[in-house]
Amino acid sequence: MVSNSLPDRHSGLPATWQQELADAVSDPVELLDLLGLRPDQLDPGGLDGLRAAAVTFPLRVPRSFVARMRPGDPQDPLLRQVLAASVELQDAPGFTSDPLEEAAARRAPGLLQKYLGRALMVTTGACAIHCRYCFRRDYDYAADTGLERRWEEAFRTLAASPDVEELLLSGGDPLSLSNARLESLFARAAALPQLRRLRIHTRNPIVLPSRVDNGLLALLARSPLPVVVVVHANHAAEIDEEVRDALQRLRGTGAQLLNQSVLLAGVNDDVDRLADLSCSLFDAGVLPYYLHAPDYVRGTAHFHVDDERARCLVRDLAARLPGYLVPRLAREEPGKPGKTLLLPAG
Ligand SMILES: *Cc1c(COP(=O)(O)O)cnc(C)c1O
Ligand code: SF4
Repeated sequence: MVSNSLPDRHSGLPATWQQELADAVSDPVELLDLLGLRPDQLDPGGLDGLRAAAVTFPLRVPRSFVARMRPGDPQDPLLRQVLAASVELQDAPGFTSDPLEEAAARRAPGLLQKYLGRALMVTTGACAIHCRYCFRRDYDYAADTGLERRWEEAFRTLAASPDVEELLLSGGDPLSLSNARLESLFARAAALPQLRRLRIHTRNPIVLPSRVDNGLLALLARSPLPVVVVVHANHAAEIDEEVRDALQRLRGTGAQLLNQSVLLAGVNDDVDRLADLSCSLFDAGVLPYYLHAPDYVRGTAHFHVDDERARCLVRDLAARLPGYLVPRLAREEPGKPGKTLLLPAG
């Protein structure tokens, strides 16, 4: 039996995902020490710059994810996704804190409905990792937490919504919740007769693969509703053997596995990298679903790839991979009936 988690640093025993979560790196000095890098290699403002950027949206990265970075490489694509740097503090015209105008789609606290037949529940504000490009980095999670009591209201609204066929559990990361909490969510969802599918949007199987524990697998396997799990990886180096194993076990529950990525300058804005990602996902039993063109979120201008380049990259990708390995290049825009595709399908 191969253990699916790293040994606990203190006891030497296999760590639970909760321990790994508590042990995540949150100090930029420690992160750079682990990688043999100096602050001035990452930020012209040095350590002060790194610290200043992490004040409102702190640095947070699980150690197993750090272990997948290349030591000594200030350009590492995984490091770039998580290291807070002072470029985030520069204002850029057109970049705002709620570019999706999600507030307008709120049907109950923590329940968004923008599209026909699908409702999205913000189940928790917590994430195992803090991605610097996150479009929810300024989201008012405090207004959506309080969990169980909030869920009551969301489920009351859903019960009165016969048109909703699919419930999306999102966040934050819904797999930051305990299995007991998830079980309660699943049970409430299963009690809604109009629901045909349950979808979970989560980055945890990628960034904290120990989260895919036996309790979660059992819960998914016995769900009366078909489950779709949409994971989130942006670069092939995120998918190491432990992650592949976790994904394959998830798939073993009968869940449909899809991936969404964000197109990010310096991370995956390159056709070879995108092709590697699609192929690594496939090897782990996951099909690419969306490649999100970057939103205009305040603090993320340094990740921006312009639309014309994005289209070019995906056209080049389509010329070399089977159609089912080419993600849909999409952007979410306020007031549209679905995500806007930046390239015509086919
Ligand atoms: C993206 C999104 C969905 C799901 O859209 P699909 O195209 O079905 O993946 C549903 N609700 C909201 C609010 C979303 O942002
Ligand atoms: S895991 Fe998802 S919600 Fe959480 S910080 Fe990353 S992109 Fe944002």
